[in-house]
Amino acid sequence: RKLIKENNLEEALSVARQQVENGANIIDVNFDEGLLDSKECMIKFLNLMASEPDISKVPFMIDSSKWEVIEAGLKCVQGKSIVNSISLKEGEENFLYQAQEIMKYGAAVIIMAFDEKGQAANKKDKVRICKRAYALLQSINFPPEDIIFDPNVLTVATGMEEHNNYALDFIEAIKEIKENCPRALTSGGISNVSFSLRGNNYVREAMHSSFLYHSIKSGLDMGIVNAGMLSVYDEIERGLLEKVEDVLLNRDPNATENLIDYAEQFKGKEGKKKKADLEWRKKTVEERISHALIHGITDFIVEDTEEVRVNKEKPLDVIEGPLMDGMKIVGELFGEGKMFLPQVVKSARVMKKAVAHLEPFMEEEKANNPNFREQGIFVIATVKGDVHDIGKNIVSVVLACNGYKMIDLGVMVSFEEILKAIKEYKANIVGMSGLITPSLDEMIYNVKKIQDLKLNIPILLGGATTSKVHTAVKIAPHYDGPIVQVADASLAVNICQSLLDPKKRTNYSEEIKRSQIKLKENFLRKEEDIILKKINESRKSPYKIEWEQNFNPAPSLVGNKIFNDISLSEIADYIDWSPLFWTWELKGTYPKILSHKKYGKQAKDLFEDSKVFLKDIIENKRFRPKSTIGIWKANSIGDDVQIYDFEKVKETFHFLRQQKINYNNEACFCLSDFIAPKDTGIVDYMGGFVVTMGQEVEEYAKLFKDKHDDYSSILIKALGDRMAEAFAELMHQKARHLFNPQLREDLSKTDLIKEKYQGIRPAHGYPACPDHTEKLTLWRLLDAEKVTGVTLTSSMAMNPPSSVSGLYFFNRKSKYFNVGPIDEGQIADYAKRKKYGTGDIEKWLSSSLGYQPKKVYGIV
Ligand code: SAH
Repeated sequence: RKLIKENNLEEALSVARQQVENGANIIDVNFDEGLLDSKECMIKFLNLMASEPDISKVPFMIDSSKWEVIEAGLKCVQGKSIVNSISLKEGEENFLYQAQEIMKYGAAVIIMAFDEKGQAANKKDKVRICKRAYALLQSINFPPEDIIFDPNVLTVATGMEEHNNYALDFIEAIKEIKENCPRALTSGGISNVSFSLRGNNYVREAMHSSFLYHSIKSGLDMGIVNAGMLSVYDEIERGLLEKVEDVLLNRDPNATENLIDYAEQFKGKEGKKKKADLEWRKKTVEERISHALIHGITDFIVEDTEEVRVNKEKPLDVIEGPLMDGMKIVGELFGEGKMFLPQVVKSARVMKKAVAHLEPFMEEEKANNPNFREQGIFVIATVKGDVHDIGKNIVSVVLACNGYKMIDLGVMVSFEEILKAIKEYKANIVGMSGLITPSLDEMIYNVKKIQDLKLNIPILLGGATTSKVHTAVKIAPHYDGPIVQVADASLAVNICQSLLDPKKRTNYSEEIKRSQIKLKENFLRKEEDIILKKINESRKSPYKIEWEQNFNPAPSLVGNKIFNDISLSEIADYIDWSPLFWTWELKGTYPKILSHKKYGKQAKDLFEDSKVFLKDIIENKRFRPKSTIGIWKANSIGDDVQIYDFEKVKETFHFLRQQKINYNNEACFCLSDFIAPKDTGIVDYMGGFVVTMGQEVEEYAKLFKDKHDDYSSILIKALGDRMAEAFAELMHQKARHLFNPQLREDLSKTDLIKEKYQGIRPAHGYPACPDHTEKLTLWRLLDAEKVTGVTLTSSMAMNPPSSVSGLYFFNRKSKYFNVGPIDEGQIADYAKRKKYGTGDIEKWLSSSLGYQPKKVYGIV
């Protein structure tokens, strides 16, 4: 992969040669990679291999998911090749056409057990689909000996009950396929079966050997496997073999847990390459624990922890001794900027594993150990109506690393639940997080309640929607105790220490109060300087488009269209990687950040880890992308846009107009300016979309969190968000082509990320359309909840969290802008148009008000 990407085909050729020398029976070539011209690569590389007698003595397997690449490959191979692969995914007609072409070239073919409905997971479906494909191939006289069925090897030991029978399904399906499809062959990608145990090659090798052994007994003809990753079946240690086979043959409901526990001891038995790095194992056990914590190595932590434990009086001494000492170094290095967030979260994973090992022993001695030396007890939650928790989880892990006991209440947490936890755990600090603007009101509501109850507990606020200024102006005045907005996870530790340290506490709190009063005064003074035009004045200078000159051919979609079968790999091609690094507080843009002086190494590691997960997510279909888009007839009437179903008004979108006076005489923008006014008589269109990666993102992340692996859990969620944004980009491209069937847009993926296309997709809650409640209209138009499963919370947040929605404006003049502050006049007018109470609108648009409303509304 690396050599091909560097266009070093000669060197890549030598890899093929080595494979043959090492006994490979077939050489499989695949160039399906986002940035490659896979067709051209296929042609070039097959031709190069053909001129090497030492390589071309074995058959070539032309491997691609794109038919045109396969066809290009077939045209250049001499002798008999094998196509990998075709399936019934796109229906019988397509399947038969491709099979016929393959037959013309005299090639053999791998048939994947897929049909129009998707991948066959259980035995019945595997057999049914293969039999159907076989019958179809017979009808065109395809030679049966050239058919190779691959009935899908799927991963077991994932922790999901419905995966437990996957290996057995494969083994048994092979037998029936062989019986029912005379002379056809069978194959499978073996290593997929053990994917869940990656990182433990010793156990994986045993699984592969056993799985092959049983599959071959059932009649498996060939398998794809790294020959270097196979142990001899008879030499597999008996205890391990039994546990492995309990899993593969689904002999015991607890098989997965048993194997994982048992596998723990083999983690040291990794491949040869790593041995050189194991020098640190020779140090003292305390030094080894430090090393493991700093480097985030979980492999030996249990045995090291155990070694210390048996020599200490109490298990707690292990935590308070070497583990905390190690974490202290991590904390210091992080504070000094010598370690980065991803590493710290990996360190936490080591710590949690050690603590999990000690916990049962501590339970035994609990009575004797009433006072564990904690820094403080911290209740943390994402507030009611909000679902985002990546940032909150990172803060939680960082504080836990620093000795705080974290009570994490999760997302959408009501005040009552927060209050209950504060009391129950006798918390010293409470933290509230939120991503979308309505969460700010939820925070205000909570803070006032805490004030009323005189709890006087320090409060931390965090999340994308919070700011120092907002905290100072709108929240702090309601609270007597200290309340601090935390911009960065890395700042949280210091803030908490200052808040809890009896010596610093008073001074620190006073200092915060003073700076908040100052911020508020500055803000109010600036606010007085803002002069707003009256809304009627603003409307006199809208943004003008010459509508007569705007000609668009009829869209090929008018109405809604659901896209639920777009593959994860296609979506992944559209990922904008930069924000992933920002999530982890690595500042810069991709790909430059990979060679950044300070963050480069970390960024690279994070990127590598992300790629491994992304591969797993794609191959094992961990996420379920769903989306729906609509393109509707529309006209503007003032600041509203009417959506028509034939001639009837179906829905109306309401927008806000800029009121700020600018001295360049620029227009006062409103999104409705980008849609042709009704009185022009022009038929115009507006669109909308909802995309999601599904609740599966959260479910998959949870599997890791439950195993004390916050790093992987956070990474998966971050990838869920990346994929959702990528999906939005992909759908926008489709929408532009549906809107204008004659569009010839020649843009690279980078151009798309830079938004070099015509038209925009403003999202509700963002500066051009800050009102989240307009999502309700979009949801009705798209029937979004039903077709995508995405619901809106009480604060209009989308749930599942990895979802994106917005409107489409296709006009090439449309652009993003900031509505900015608006006055009471526009609020009253807007409330009337929407048929909402003025107070309600003030609540939903609290961040856009250019004045102090009479009341502050909490969402109850
Ligand atoms: N490539 C980015 C895309 C998301 S950010 C990623 O992967 O994260 C850009 C999106 O934010 C836009 O597509 C639009 O939906 C929204 N947006 C940006 N500025 C906006 C504005 N002023 N008003 C409304 N929406 C805006």
